[in-house]
Amino acid sequence: MKLGHVLILICLIFSLNSFGIEQPAIIKAYCEKLDKSFKKYGWEKSQCEDFNWLHYRNSVLGDPLMWTTFGDVSDEDLPSFKDKDVTIVMCGVHGDEITPIKFCFDLMYYLRDAYSPENKDSKLREEFKNKVVLVSPLVNPDSFFKKRPTRVNARGIDPNRNFPTSDWMLEARKIWLQKFKKEPRRNPGLKPNSEPEVIFQVNLIKRFNPDKIVSVHSPLTVLDYDGPMHPVNGGADGGKAQELLIQMSKDADGYNIKDYPFFPGSLGNWAGQERNIPTYTLELPSSDARKNAEYWSLFKGAMHKVIVHNVRQQDVAKSPVPDEIPSVENSRLKPN
Ligand SMILES: [Zn+2]
Repeated sequence: MKLGHVLILICLIFSLNSFGIEQPAIIKAYCEKLDKSFKKYGWEKSQCEDFNWLHYRNSVLGDPLMWTTFGDVSDEDLPSFKDKDVTIVMCGVHGDEITPIKFCFDLMYYLRDAYSPENKDSKLREEFKNKVVLVSPLVNPDSFFKKRPTRVNARGIDPNRNFPTSDWMLEARKIWLQKFKKEPRRNPGLKPNSEPEVIFQVNLIKRFNPDKIVSVHSPLTVLDYDGPMHPVNGGADGGKAQELLIQMSKDADGYNIKDYPFFPGSLGNWAGQERNIPTYTLELPSSDARKNAEYWSLFKGAMHKVIVHNVRQQDVAKSPVPDEIPSVENSRLKPN
């Protein structure tokens, strides 16, 4: 090896952190901010810089909207990817719901161990074979990073009322103005899909066409399901998705299942109702940051189950989600 090569190698080694991941400046700054918040809530360091983040788009105030991947997505453009069982987990859509954000990190630590090549648990490895999990632990950073976190984003819009559902134009603003009397916490915006936090979720779902989605909120203490129903319109897939719902509740000490009505512009409506993607909303019992260890231990089994449980029939090919909105997340550009 030539001296020049040795020097390059040494520079490379020293430019990587201890886990071998060199993060762009925007992610580094974000991770520092995140750790300050984690400290404020009495949580251990987030280990944010140790994960591989993908990021194309920023929040209104310029923080990265990002996700990390577990499992092999190198064949995402090939037919073989259709055979993989893909789960998307999202937390922190409402920034004042504190517990879900740490919950997603607890899930990430669990998955990092489960997917590690050093994991010698052959049963676990077998269970996670062909399973892909995408985790976005903080969908709405602007509202979480405020001194007093809010539900709405930096422009005052509720990211769970701004999805481009077919009833949005007719109903979203009408319901907000008449039924909710312009309640600031539920402002759907002036038009659908106008907010970066919503465009981010829409594009992630379109790009990876998941088999199921879990969105974690608090504090309503329920599991809510939107998606194909058995036997009305979902056939066997609807049955499987509902079986999983019941199993998740059983694994979490009989956690309350409640079928909430869906709202114009909500994720459950857009992904579950309109696109038939089984969508599970887990509402943790409180937003009390001291309870996180308790919540993770209560739902660890259910989260494991939702990832390894196949809800779509093997012989039914996944149909791609229609792509009416051009986006960078949908392209194969290198993320920043
Ligand atoms: Zn919420």
